[in-house]
Amino acid sequence: MIQQKKQPNLRIIPLGGFGEVGLNMLLLEYGGKILIIDMGLGFPGEDMPGIDCVIPNVSYLKGKERNILGAVLTHGHYDHIGAIPYIIPRLGSIPMYASLLTKGIILKRQEDFSNQPKLNIETVGDRSKIQLGPFQIEFFRQNHNIPDNLGLFIKTPVGNILHTSDFKFDESPVNEPPTDFEKLKGISQRGISLLLSESTGAEEEGHSLSEETIFKNLDKIFEKAKGRIIAASFASLINRIQQLITLSEKYGRKVAIEGRSMKTNIEICQNLKKIQAKKGTFIKTKDIAKFPDSKITVLCTGAQGEEAAVFMKIANREHKFVQLKKEDTVIFSSSVIPGNERTVQFLKDEFHRQGAKVFHYKMMDIHASGHAKQEELRKMLKIMTPKFFLPIYGQYSMLVRHAEIAEEEGMPADNIVVAENGQVINLTPKRISIMRERVPSNYIMVDGLGIGDVGEVVLRDRQNLARDGMFVIVVVVDRQAGKVKGSPDIISRGFVYLRESKELLKDTRRRVIGIVDRSAGAGGAVNWTYVKNEIRNKISEFLFFKTKRRPMILPVVIEV
Ligand SMILES: [Zn+2]
Repeated sequence: MIQQKKQPNLRIIPLGGFGEVGLNMLLLEYGGKILIIDMGLGFPGEDMPGIDCVIPNVSYLKGKERNILGAVLTHGHYDHIGAIPYIIPRLGSIPMYASLLTKGIILKRQEDFSNQPKLNIETVGDRSKIQLGPFQIEFFRQNHNIPDNLGLFIKTPVGNILHTSDFKFDESPVNEPPTDFEKLKGISQRGISLLLSESTGAEEEGHSLSEETIFKNLDKIFEKAKGRIIAASFASLINRIQQLITLSEKYGRKVAIEGRSMKTNIEICQNLKKIQAKKGTFIKTKDIAKFPDSKITVLCTGAQGEEAAVFMKIANREHKFVQLKKEDTVIFSSSVIPGNERTVQFLKDEFHRQGAKVFHYKMMDIHASGHAKQEELRKMLKIMTPKFFLPIYGQYSMLVRHAEIAEEEGMPADNIVVAENGQVINLTPKRISIMRERVPSNYIMVDGLGIGDVGEVVLRDRQNLARDGMFVIVVVVDRQAGKVKGSPDIISRGFVYLRESKELLKDTRRRVIGIVDRSAGAGGAVNWTYVKNEIRNKISEFLFFKTKRRPMILPVVIEV
């Protein structure tokens, strides 16, 4: 019998971004040595009241800290780097590799976490090469909507892996050279065993817009604008911010920046020469009244309707220096993240009500996604001609669509896998497959400075509170008599207006007295935990029967 030589194998473990967008994080593991790619955070859904952000679960790495070779960060978006301050303290000072701008954004953010040890980040760029254990990584420039975005070509003992990072193909970008297809073909000629390609745009037909097209459309708005221009975008859409600055300069407008994240990012980019602005272009917002309206642009945050952001303050007429006027032009230059539609609609209506001209991405192409659409995804597959394909970074339906696209491009179905967070993908030179093993991958909720101390129960309580309010019942019990003294006090918030619910309250009090007297009146020791549970359950049932709502009920029993 011929002994079969064991094939070398590499494990790919997605901890975030596979099946759900946001908080991207991926592990490559070979011979026990681990390479981390990206450490992103996600923003909480509407069903997570009081949660600041969610981060990947890294408990798989516990006990393996010494085997972590390092982390590579593809670009400066928070869904790729935002979890660093939460994760690094658990892993220790591992070496990290990032481009100049990505590093700048990471370090600036770290200032908010001042008691943490210094990060160990080495700057890399287009064509940089590093060797980390069995992994040889070469970085290459990829166009996206933030400068200094890097794709990864990784040589491993089982074959070459190509990681696209977030990308789009752009032949006329701002501030950066266009996509270098010859370079990509050169990489492909070295043979790609596995392609990891981002999937955000996999369900959208066609080609993403070039930044040049957007620039032209924005130019038309600038050309016609008579009063001030108030433009909102994401603070991380550096290329869009650049376009708005360039156009302001073209039309002799001064630019006032509003919103902390926007100010910070512009400052970082200016220091690194990733944003170009003439001297004197920027002014303080409090000075805008010193210039004619036709010479002013206000750049601000909040195009998603974020409550605390500048756009919302302007809409609510709460902004100290910017009150809308009839001639003003308002531009929403970012797409709407699903879930934010209602608030964005509120903003639009409010701006119209106050007489401004409003432009948003649905009316005109003033926002291009930074993500490749189907045409570009096909092109990437065609250029790389990988043996195996694993779609990364996207909702589950996007991953599936991306896998279908690869099949349509002629790849055998057996060479493609669609995986979700926590699954382990096994790659050998001959085969790709999903293992039965799973690693913990439930997202961890961050609440203020606490990490992971908000569990399902706390979250459910908050959901209840937010939806149905709360109901506190204070009962004073005469221990000796085993009877309720006086009438129970009821305090409610967000449930019913007490004054208009006298009958309901009277009934509730009567029931509480009944429950306590029945449980405590028998004499002997009284189990107050049981009594409280009884109050909670019975009153909850009763209130639901009467109002069809389930407020959180907090019984307080005081013995005298
Ligand atoms: Zn991105």
